[in-house]
Amino acid sequence: MPIATVDPATGETLKTFDPMGPEEVERRLAAAHAAFRRHRVTDFAERARLLHRAADLLDEDRDDIARTMTTEMGKPLAAARAEAAKCAKAMHWYADRAEALLADERPAQSDVQDSGGRQVRVVYRPLGVVLAVMPWNFPLWQVVRFAAPALMAGNTGLLKHASNVPQTALYLEDLFRRAGYPEGCFQTLLIGSGAVEAVLRDRRVAAATLTGSEPAGRSVAAIAGDEIKKTVLELGGSDPFVVMPSADLERAARTAVTARVQNNGQSCIAAKRFIVHTDVYDAFAARFAELMAALTVGNPMDASTDVGPLATEQGRADLEELVDDALEHGAVALCGGKRPVALAHGWYYEPTVLAGVTPRMRIHHEEAFGPVATLYRVRDVDEALDVANDSPFGLSSNVWTRDEEEQHRFVRDMEAGGVFFNGMTASHPAFPFGGVKRSGYGRELSEHGIREFCNITTVWYG
Ligand code: NAP
Repeated sequence: MPIATVDPATGETLKTFDPMGPEEVERRLAAAHAAFRRHRVTDFAERARLLHRAADLLDEDRDDIARTMTTEMGKPLAAARAEAAKCAKAMHWYADRAEALLADERPAQSDVQDSGGRQVRVVYRPLGVVLAVMPWNFPLWQVVRFAAPALMAGNTGLLKHASNVPQTALYLEDLFRRAGYPEGCFQTLLIGSGAVEAVLRDRRVAAATLTGSEPAGRSVAAIAGDEIKKTVLELGGSDPFVVMPSADLERAARTAVTARVQNNGQSCIAAKRFIVHTDVYDAFAARFAELMAALTVGNPMDASTDVGPLATEQGRADLEELVDDALEHGAVALCGGKRPVALAHGWYYEPTVLAGVTPRMRIHHEEAFGPVATLYRVRDVDEALDVANDSPFGLSSNVWTRDEEEQHRFVRDMEAGGVFFNGMTASHPAFPFGGVKRSGYGRELSEHGIREFCNITTVWYG
């Protein structure tokens, strides 16, 4: 994949970049390693000062960087602005709390005595240079969600961003530099995916985090495994959105639309499979399809646009294949199911609701990364859980029920890293984020995220 900005609204290549060669990569690896030696011994007050400054600069830059993101990957401009604001908030959050989240811990005195010791402390020390391989879908947020805690913990970062968002990638390096971070603390590597292995195997790289697809995760985890290096993987999702009879159906249908088409349908935590109790299935399906069909598809720079283009031509082709396969195997499109006729240029796809989806169809098992929803009719909680868990993925889940017993069942039995009741999955700096099964492992955000790239050290005094 060339490293280039290609406008998904027109298909036009706006700017191309030469990948960095081995010498430039070596220079940046050396700088990251040297920076780690200095950054690891800075105090929390200094790290917080730098991160607050980066957040303030990002707030100032919000409109410009939002336009860059929309140009590079097609999300509606208002969503791009909201993403930038969310990043600044998360930076402030970690700047204010990292010291407390990484405070020394003391095991119970009885256990200390049992070990024959006088005193024991658990200390969180940074790991080193962390390589971050990141996707284009939330091109600022995915990076900040890693960088803010990693830098506060005393690590340094090397970003290999997706090849279609190079300007956002370079902006991030520049942001941290302007905030005053010493050279090497946070750098962007403009390299293709084929160049990742050599960086990951370099002895100066301590760990890696990857947000992206299953094949990319498998490759990076295999190499890191071979090198015995720590990884965090945030991979795909096909989150269920369960609607039970006690749900407020109008709110559920409206939220279902947002949960499915946010970010033009290209969010790992988008609800993708809508699993509806038979008592309310017909009413929900009709309203959901009506609302999906009423969305405005168009230029993401226009304020009236709800759904912009898919980020890449290949992404749209993949989505089309999934829908066509489902239709060939007997699914019915309640709306959409094709490209919008009026939008000849750019990589648009109509918001689509597919009913009658069965396990024979690829879309039952694979992630639909675009504005396409699948519907399932179920008899009871058991069947809802069976369908919800019949997926290789387990990122998050949404359940609409006011029945406490049902809520208890979903919390106990849902195979996912999150269960969100009567709302949609959203990430917040204070809540752990991550999945199970093929959605990956490890957690980002909260105290769990900041501790992933720490050397958790036992200090024992005899
Ligand atoms: P992708 O193709 O896996 O790309 C993600 C990143 O991995 C890019 O930087 C890409 O570089 C790199 N990459 C791809 N193959 C690689 C390999 N073999 N070795 C090393 N690096 C490799 O994913 P995407 O299409 O950009 O993003 C969509 C996927 O990400 C979806 O499955 C989505 O659900 C998932 N996602 C998950 C989360 C989460 O938090 N769980 C969040 C957002 C997205 P190039 O661009 O140069 O190929």
